[in-house]
Amino acid sequence: MQYDHILIRYGELGLKGKNIKQFIVQLQKNIQEALKEFPSTRVTRSQGRMFVVLNGQDPEPIIEKCKTIFGIYSLSLAIKVNNEIETIKAGALAALKQSEYAHTFKVSVRRANKAFPIGSQEMNRVLGAHLLKKTSDFTVNVHEPDVEIKVEIREKATYITSTVIRAAGGLPVGTGGKTLLLLSGGIDSPVAGYLIMKRGVELEMIHFHSPPFTSERAKQKVLDLTKVLTEYGGSIKIHLVPFTKLQQEIFKSIPERYAMTVMRRVMLQVSEKVCQKNNILAIATGESLGQVASQTLASMNVINEVTNLPVIRPLVGLDKEEIISYSKEIGTYDISVKPYEDCCTIFVPKSPVTNPTREKVNYLESNTDFSTFIDEAVENIEEITIRNSTILEESFDDLL
Ligand code: ATP
Ligand code: MG
Repeated sequence: MQYDHILIRYGELGLKGKNIKQFIVQLQKNIQEALKEFPSTRVTRSQGRMFVVLNGQDPEPIIEKCKTIFGIYSLSLAIKVNNEIETIKAGALAALKQSEYAHTFKVSVRRANKAFPIGSQEMNRVLGAHLLKKTSDFTVNVHEPDVEIKVEIREKATYITSTVIRAAGGLPVGTGGKTLLLLSGGIDSPVAGYLIMKRGVELEMIHFHSPPFTSERAKQKVLDLTKVLTEYGGSIKIHLVPFTKLQQEIFKSIPERYAMTVMRRVMLQVSEKVCQKNNILAIATGESLGQVASQTLASMNVINEVTNLPVIRPLVGLDKEEIISYSKEIGTYDISVKPYEDCCTIFVPKSPVTNPTREKVNYLESNTDFSTFIDEAVENIEEITIRNSTILEESFDDLL
């Protein structure tokens, strides 16, 4: 007897009251989507749990995939047997024998099906005795067992599971609306994207590039980072904004120390227009407090003035070390550290102001009308949609 199911637990969903149904349906859809490369698997639901039916597939890669799906709290391999005492015994024994490195065990029976004739306590004893009799190298330890063989007797079948594997947690992507993430090629913004998706929110990306000062490789880096993030939440649309003219205009008309602040304000203005066009309710960035000149509270105050949309900054409470450790964990670090130029590193002022005020910046901007440049940039946005590892559609520019 082999493990033939993966049992999926989705903790936090239990707290969501009325939305629960929508959340569960979305989670099931996301799992099905993520497991497309394993066509013979099926995803089923029953009484507060979900199951992946393995149909003979190797469980390891499927577990690895499931661990990255937001909304799943933990997983266990499971053996499904019918509600007969002898088959349950055989299943429990098979589960124990497949528990590598374990020397002690405990049996925990849950009898959800009250029609089953033997009570949970009695079943614990029956199964424990059976396992001891049929094996020679295991002992019982009820307080700190190496492995807990869980037996859940349900209406139609009994599920036997052992090790609990922790998964990503969070909420299923697609249940929390959509956010536009300002994605640079750096370490921070992809991590910010990951943390937003973790709360069930879908992403679209906006990236500002300045050809010919920034290269195709820098653009490709952003596509590659997005590709990694699709592993956690389905397809993602990227808006690539041609930023050269705007940047040149900013550096021509704004004193160098304030150019970075104005550049950020313009980025938010472009982003807001993209949000309006695409029904997106919030903007997100990878900013963290205090890292660089543009990330002081005074800067945020001035930058934020140009938009009424919420600007979400999920990294605001994290240290750089913590952000780096996340980026390694989620698989974006190696791409982020590739040394390709970013538009903000090319047009970078030597000593940007750390303590700008709204009055001063508004005064400096009043000499130039950026709005036509902003509209032009928005009109010339190139859109690319990335779905897991394939690019789906490119803008007309690339096709012509
Ligand atoms: P990151 O590692 O995400 O680049 P950072 O610490 O280098 O962040 P900045 O370069 O000051 O910080 O950028 C702050 C935020 O502004 C980024 O996290 C990102 O959200 C946004 N941003 C910066 N450059 C770009 C760009 N070229 N396109 C889109 N967003 C950008
Ligand atoms: Mg950066």
